[in-house]
Amino acid sequence: MAATPGFETRAVHAGASPDPTTGARQTPIFQTTSYVFDDVDHAASLFNLQTFGYIYSRLTNPTVAVLEERVAALEGGRGGTATASGHAAQILALFPLMEPGADFVAATKLYGGSITQFGRTFKKFDWRCTFADFDDPEAVRKAIGPKTKAVFCESLANPGGVVHDLQRIAEIAHGAGIPLIVDNTMATPYLMQPIAHGADLVVHSTTKFLSGHGHAVGGMVVDSGKFDWTKSGKFPTLSEPEPAYHGLKFAETFGDLAFTVHGHAVGLRDLGACQSPMNAFLTLAGIETLALRMDRHCANALAVAQFLEKHPAVSWVSYAGLPSSKYAALAKRYLPKGAGAVFTFGVKGGYEAGVRLVESVQLLSHLANIGDTRSLVIHPASTTHRQLTPEQLKAAGAGPDVVRISVGIETVADIIADLDQALAKSVKKAA
Ligand SMILES: *Cc1c(COP(=O)(O)O)cnc(C)c1O
Repeated sequence: MAATPGFETRAVHAGASPDPTTGARQTPIFQTTSYVFDDVDHAASLFNLQTFGYIYSRLTNPTVAVLEERVAALEGGRGGTATASGHAAQILALFPLMEPGADFVAATKLYGGSITQFGRTFKKFDWRCTFADFDDPEAVRKAIGPKTKAVFCESLANPGGVVHDLQRIAEIAHGAGIPLIVDNTMATPYLMQPIAHGADLVVHSTTKFLSGHGHAVGGMVVDSGKFDWTKSGKFPTLSEPEPAYHGLKFAETFGDLAFTVHGHAVGLRDLGACQSPMNAFLTLAGIETLALRMDRHCANALAVAQFLEKHPAVSWVSYAGLPSSKYAALAKRYLPKGAGAVFTFGVKGGYEAGVRLVESVQLLSHLANIGDTRSLVIHPASTTHRQLTPEQLKAAGAGPDVVRISVGIETVADIIADLDQALAKSVKKAA
């Protein structure tokens, strides 16, 4: 094939070929911890990073490598590092950039778990996070200081269906000599490829739409290969000699693969958050149908959002695919194929009505996940976001009346009918 294959073709084929020894057409699950060396010289060159190959599955594994290549191909990136979870991907993405006392600037509107990870747990490493309102790119510029190493936001922010002006934010980050990291979990590369808009690193919770079936927790870091890690002097981990590898300089030795090689040779080696071959296999199977699923997810989500917007028990709907959304223009520009399938709405009757709604659904599942083929619903204030203070809840778009829905690929009339009966119950008891 001369030209770059289309998205759907890459989703089925990128990174994979029939197994050379058995002819197996599907990527095998290489359920092995370790790999036999040809001889001592071969082992030495692998350990010195002079030859690419397999040593131990904490660093690299052939099934996981296919997933890494596939997601990198879908994102238009240079390389990928698969991780045990989306949260592990966030640590792996920041690890080469950060050091004790350094900070990064992150959006206030993020997945609740990310706010906790960034704002609380990272303090243990003395990694500091400054939260800023990314609806105002100037606020991002003002939050960047001399020790800031990265800017972080979501392409389509969880839970509110929020779209930031990524191009402007990328320009601001690059103006300060630092990379933009975008969590593309909710949009997936089918709806948006952040690298095309200036992002340098993309992180995923593959747990969600990429695997798509709610059967495997996993994460991924994709590097664009475009950021110059040597220019500003801010990233010595990548630009300066690494003692554990005989003074090798990652940026000099591996060029546009430096971040990805470091992710395996140091990140996974020492942090240990590798993805299992079984989960990589399941996620690869999910990715094959990503385009088909996302089209259905988006069409169903739009219909459900339109239904909710007219419903008397609903006070507001925040879906970037609706003309009423303040993010409608940005969504049109950045997400022309659809605004995803996860959004929030407000129930009249506040906290109590929200709790009653999620306890009354029958087809929908009340649980803490998104991106499943099944429709899922949750009341963030009583679950995913309950660790946050009232101010953080408000800033994160997860106030007491907020319900989050992840619209599945079932028959849309059935999803709407279930919401209709559950909303009737939430109103009745609230009255
Ligand atoms: C779920 C999620 C994460 C965390 O991923 P895990 O796989 O659960 O660790 C991070 N960001 C977003 C946007 C998510 O939805």
